[in-house]
Amino acid sequence: MQPAYRPRLTPLPEAPEVLIIGAGAAGIGAARTLQARGVSVAVLEARDRVGGRALTVALRGHALDLGAHWLHAGPINPLVALGRARGERLRRAPQESHVWVGRRPGRADEVRANARAFARADRAMTGGAAQPGDDRPAARALPPGLGPWGSRVAQVHGLVSGRPLEQVSLNDFPSMEYSDNFFLADGYGNYLARLADGLPVALAQAVTRIDWSGGRVRLGTADGTSYRARALIVTIPMMVLRDGPAFTPPLPNAVRAAIDGFTTGIYEHAVLHWPSSPFRGRDRLAAIHGRRRTPPGLLTRIDGTPFHYYELDLREAAALDAAGSGVDGVRRHVRAVLADLFGHHRVRDLSIPAVSTWRHDPWSRGSWAVVPPGHAPARQRLHEPVGGTVWFAGEALSREQWGTVGGAFAEGARAAVAVATRIRSGTA
Ligand SMILES: Cc1cc2nc3c(=O)[nH]c(=O)nc-3n(C[C@H](O)[C@H](O)[C@H](O)COP(=O)(O)OP(=O)(O)OC[C@H]3O[C@@H](n4cnc5c(N)ncnc54)[C@H](O)[C@@H]3O)c2cc1C
Repeated sequence: MQPAYRPRLTPLPEAPEVLIIGAGAAGIGAARTLQARGVSVAVLEARDRVGGRALTVALRGHALDLGAHWLHAGPINPLVALGRARGERLRRAPQESHVWVGRRPGRADEVRANARAFARADRAMTGGAAQPGDDRPAARALPPGLGPWGSRVAQVHGLVSGRPLEQVSLNDFPSMEYSDNFFLADGYGNYLARLADGLPVALAQAVTRIDWSGGRVRLGTADGTSYRARALIVTIPMMVLRDGPAFTPPLPNAVRAAIDGFTTGIYEHAVLHWPSSPFRGRDRLAAIHGRRRTPPGLLTRIDGTPFHYYELDLREAAALDAAGSGVDGVRRHVRAVLADLFGHHRVRDLSIPAVSTWRHDPWSRGSWAVVPPGHAPARQRLHEPVGGTVWFAGEALSREQWGTVGGAFAEGARAAVAVATRIRSGTA
């Protein structure tokens, strides 16, 4: 689908000092930081748009995100502070969720029990048992005795981690900061696209070759164009980097092992237009217990509109893919789950105008990179430049804000500061 906003991009400089691959959050953060330091830069983007995994589209006159939607970690997310300074229309995400048990709203005691179970799990995963460097499966930190609420707690944490908690390192949890979240009135993708206004970005430039021999970088693209510079920042998602571009000379073994050791996080939106939804209020998550089939995630009445997100996790997406369902099969599945929960009369006016498929997109191949148990040093390992000329950046390098736009933007800026310092000191 087409982005709702396309920024005004500027032509690439003839002889840039730095090349950046990718115009997602990390590439935009890096380019802005380099420009602010007076370093000339050129950004090469494979798609015909900027923003990467943040994309806002217009549906029935509303701005809806098909990728990132939440500005997580308000106190440390650089895009929250920047958004405030730019006068972006931020609104705080509510803390409380709807709680449903089977087909009815939860009673007060059930709402309290649900909240207690999540609070106990959060404490166990982010404090107490979890020490820095604890690289066990995160599932092992879940406290016993969560009762009937335990499976829902594990499902929600697995959803927002991108994989079931047995497959996620506990090491990432102590520094995650999910409180104080925000939304943007006209979408996260639009905000990022506005941040690309005036940047030198060339679209439809898929980089296929990276030659970093001899203390310089030379890039080749699918259409045969070549580019040269003194330094390179690579923001290609880890899931894509596994299979390309080709590096000459090959990357050092430790760097290759760090890249290849990430696993693929899966999280997809089905965008619902659902005037008769039983949920009231705006922007609240719904926790649904006590039924065999429930949505892994449900964000209700986005900004007070009839739009909702049904969130698919890895298990649900994998089962639908294995059944060869395709996007229409996802629509049928979502409708069936909601009809089963709330009754057929409730879903009569439900339509599903969009379903994301980031896992099948060649430029993302998933939603974000996950550190499996035993792979905790990978993020830090990729902070080291390769050969003094190649830096990596992107969501996968952030431990504090992993898998997020804010983390990607911060990592792009971090790499850019390191590159600018190296260039100005004459060592790159
Ligand atoms: C459905 C979904 C929901 C999400 N929800 C949230 C959320 O609510 N909040 C949040 O903070 N995060 C969320 N995320 C995660 C967030 O979108 C990503 O962490 C973030 O956008 C990653 O930014 P990035 O710059 O690291 O990578 P990307 O955005 O993927 O940017 C990398 C760019 O590199 C380009 N590229 C790839 N290969 C090449 C090549 N060979 N040559 C040239 N260019 C290339 C790609 O086209 C892309 O534009 C979500 C993700 C998904 C999929």
